[in-house]
Amino acid sequence: MQKKSDILIAGAGIVGLSLALELHSRGAQVTVLERDTALAQASTAAAGMLAANDPHNPLALEPLSRLSIHLYSGFLEKIAALSGIAVPYQTSVTHQYVADGSITRLAEHSLDPRQLAVALLAAVRATDIDLREHTELKFTEEWPSGVAAHCTSGDRISVHQLVYATGSWTSTDRLRRLSLPVSPRKGQMLRVLLPDNLNLREVHRAEDIYIVPRLYGPQAGSALIGATVEDAGFDTTVQSTDLANLRHRASRLIPTLASETDAPTLESWAGLRPATPDNLPILGRIEHSQEFLATGHFRNGILLAPATAVVLADLIENRTPSVDLQPFTPTRFL
Ligand SMILES: Cc1cc2nc3c(=O)[nH]c(=O)nc-3n(C[C@H](O)[C@H](O)[C@H](O)COP(=O)(O)OP(=O)(O)OC[C@H]3O[C@@H](n4cnc5c(N)ncnc54)[C@H](O)[C@@H]3O)c2cc1C
Repeated sequence: MQKKSDILIAGAGIVGLSLALELHSRGAQVTVLERDTALAQASTAAAGMLAANDPHNPLALEPLSRLSIHLYSGFLEKIAALSGIAVPYQTSVTHQYVADGSITRLAEHSLDPRQLAVALLAAVRATDIDLREHTELKFTEEWPSGVAAHCTSGDRISVHQLVYATGSWTSTDRLRRLSLPVSPRKGQMLRVLLPDNLNLREVHRAEDIYIVPRLYGPQAGSALIGATVEDAGFDTTVQSTDLANLRHRASRLIPTLASETDAPTLESWAGLRPATPDNLPILGRIEHSQEFLATGHFRNGILLAPATAVVLADLIENRTPSVDLQPFTPTRFL
């Protein structure tokens, strides 16, 4: 790593904070700006499937997904070492329902993103990473020696490099000059209490519905039913008709989930997935600049966070990442 380089990351979702930890472990001095509170957006709305084998993923995602799966246990160990909090895998098998009616058994993990968020935040706070919540990046100025970031706090922070990990908000005014087509894709979800006689230990997933049981931690004994995929701007309201529809679809896979009496609703919510037109993330340097993008992870940001952190840190260090990032280049939409 170049000497004590200062790097600023905008966005404290799972992508921004995983990258902050990776850069910090390589010796960088890292500042993270978060407009809201850390990990309060998509990253804690997710189901937490590490769905590298989902047949509906774009083919071009496979090498990055495989790298992330390879890195995941080490990523969790690093977080545990810093935070003292071990995040368990909740499940290790997924039943994938295929269009022809057959079911494929996949060896695939899931975890609870809210458990991960607590541990990840504690890990970041155990380091000297400068996490500034309620501080929005407003605009940047490029200098030959680096970038000046202007924040809502009135602060101007000079750094060598800057990374946008701003999720669904990447295409708002600040980055209009890049014409990046990142847009929010709303996902509504509910969590239900599982009946005593239903010993659900694996994820059940079809193209339009999934059921993700929680076996350990504060949500043990319940299951998530998700999720809608909607173009609704930045709206995050939850509609009872949509939840009823999700429950109906889930009952096609597990009939006892049809009834509110057998499986009462514990909570429901909606989050915004950062989507791109080709359903692939945007990872790379903005041409001729010291600014980088780590966004557009759509349905797979929990899965892809460790690999994203490693390949972005490699790019920032001017190293060649182990995965070809051409499919994810920011210029592909120009
Ligand atoms: C319902 C649902 C289910 C999902 N299920 C899964 C799953 O099972 N598996 C999986 O891998 N993925 C899943 N995902 C996708 C996953 O949640 C996302 O891909 C991932 O969380 C994106 O992470 P992020 O850090 O890019 O975005 P976010 O978590 O949204 O973080 C972006 C952050 O940037 C901040 N920000 C924006 N602009 C600025 C600015 N100018 N200055 C400072 N801060 C700024 C925001 O406030 C926000 O905190 C799901 C998503 C949803 C909504």
